[in-house]
Amino acid sequence: MENKNNSCSDCAIINCQKQDKTYPQFCPTQKLTKEDIAKIEQLYMEDNNREVSRVSAEIEAQFYCKYTRVEETIEFAKRLNMKKIGIATCVGLLEESRTFAEILKKHDFEVYSAACKIGAMKKTEITGLDKEKTLTTGNIMCNPILQAQTLNKENTDLNVVIGLCVGHDSLFYKYSQALCTTLITKDRVLAHNPAGALYQTGTYYKKLLQ
Ligand code: SF4
Repeated sequence: MENKNNSCSDCAIINCQKQDKTYPQFCPTQKLTKEDIAKIEQLYMEDNNREVSRVSAEIEAQFYCKYTRVEETIEFAKRLNMKKIGIATCVGLLEESRTFAEILKKHDFEVYSAACKIGAMKKTEITGLDKEKTLTTGNIMCNPILQAQTLNKENTDLNVVIGLCVGHDSLFYKYSQALCTTLITKDRVLAHNPAGALYQTGTYYKKLLQ
């Protein structure tokens, strides 16, 4: 019997990719109406969505398993004729951001970066956090809204996220005017490799499934 909560992560068929099997009953692809598809097609015609989508697919095909994400990001910005790259960085990853900025400059991009503690505003004042909860990490708040506004003012063409915290990244994406991509996803325990926990659920990270 169909479980109404089933979705793509419950699918072992993946007929959407190769079209050589039958869609499962719960598949959202087979539930699409012609009108639904027309609306999505229309969205790809807006702004530069079609071009972004095409360029992404071209890079994926041309450099499949050849380019690192750093190289793919550069290629993406070049092919979309982007000139100015914003970096929204965690202060804990400023060294990595400096290296990335240096690489971007070698490729003739203009770079402007905004670190997470920009504005030096206080967690206790802005978020209402109890002072005792600031003892480990300090009272200066991560300020993704100001990071986004700063890069917006600089009219960046693409914003690259480097190691923003879970949730802070969400607010950055929400307020960024430019397209965003993520170069580094912070994971303080797994050296910024959050997938590591998923790969280890059979052994060391069994607890995640318990
Ligand atoms: S879209 Fe359909 S076929 Fe594709 S992964 Fe989701 S459920 Fe499976």
